[in-house]
Amino acid sequence: MDFIDKMTSTSKEWSREAAQTLYDQPLMDLLFQAQTVHRQNFDPNKVQTSKLLSIKTGGCAEDCSYCSQSARNGSTLPASKLIEVERVLAEARRARDGGATRFCMGAAWREPKDRDMDSLVAMVEGVRALGMESCMTLGMLDDNQVVRLRDAGLDYYNHNIDTSERYYPEVITTRTFADRIDTLNRVKEAGIKVCSGGILGMGEETQDRLDMLVTLANLDPAPDSVPVNMLMPQADTPLADAAPVDPIDFVRIIAVARIMMPRSYVRLSAGRSDMSEEMQAMCFFAGANSMFVGETLLTAENPEEDKDALLFAKLGIQAETAAGQSAKAAE
Ligand code: SF4
Repeated sequence: MDFIDKMTSTSKEWSREAAQTLYDQPLMDLLFQAQTVHRQNFDPNKVQTSKLLSIKTGGCAEDCSYCSQSARNGSTLPASKLIEVERVLAEARRARDGGATRFCMGAAWREPKDRDMDSLVAMVEGVRALGMESCMTLGMLDDNQVVRLRDAGLDYYNHNIDTSERYYPEVITTRTFADRIDTLNRVKEAGIKVCSGGILGMGEETQDRLDMLVTLANLDPAPDSVPVNMLMPQADTPLADAAPVDPIDFVRIIAVARIMMPRSYVRLSAGRSDMSEEMQAMCFFAGANSMFVGETLLTAENPEEDKDALLFAKLGIQAETAAGQSAKAAE
């Protein structure tokens, strides 16, 4: 197991070449390595489930070309206001009663306004009081906002890097790759766990997908959660006609992510409703161990919860409980 010991060393700086070597192996070798790393770090038959709620939808000032919430994409999605704290907590309670252990709240903003901070803080405190982990995705944050969210008990902050630094300007022009890394560093330094990943299927090359993983794996520490999205092309966006991602290429990226970030939760996110059961099973074998549940992911469709329960039963997978998470965290 020399290879795996070397590859799972926490001090290792990953290079594109090392990532490419992993990726180019025969699929069965790659899957075997990924599953071996996975078993060294996680229960292979447990998957963490999160629920995502859009707390402010549409009318976003950013121009992310995959997103139907961008006002610049000519979106017809109406812009909503930040929803009330009580409504958010009612949804969180429902999610907890349905078995979700983490509640993620997403707002379509370039960054939060200071006038919204009291409500955001109350949402985090309320979700924590329900015994769930809290996660927010609100765009860029300044130092003050990070401290307020940290002091409220925010567990995770999601801020995706989306793709490689090279390809990033093809996807977004209203903020830079460096802006994203700055926010991630600010969050990390405040002691909030980082959730950061990206999207496959935006016209990028394999090298961009691998470079994205290299950036994430070298964040030191790597993000606690790594969502890997498969683009669901949205009408009205510049990527409406993007070519679909090859399923085996997607599984390879999951496996490489697992090997490069052995202790991170690798999450199947948007695009799961377009994946067959067999593809999802291969992703779990490749090391994916987290997923969103619920009917919609912000604006993209997600498989219904009973379908997920059926798939878990077929595969003998159990949803990770909050107690399971604490036991692992304490190891
Ligand atoms: S992905 Fe987020 S930041 Fe980008 S346009 Fe959509 S809502 Fe705005």
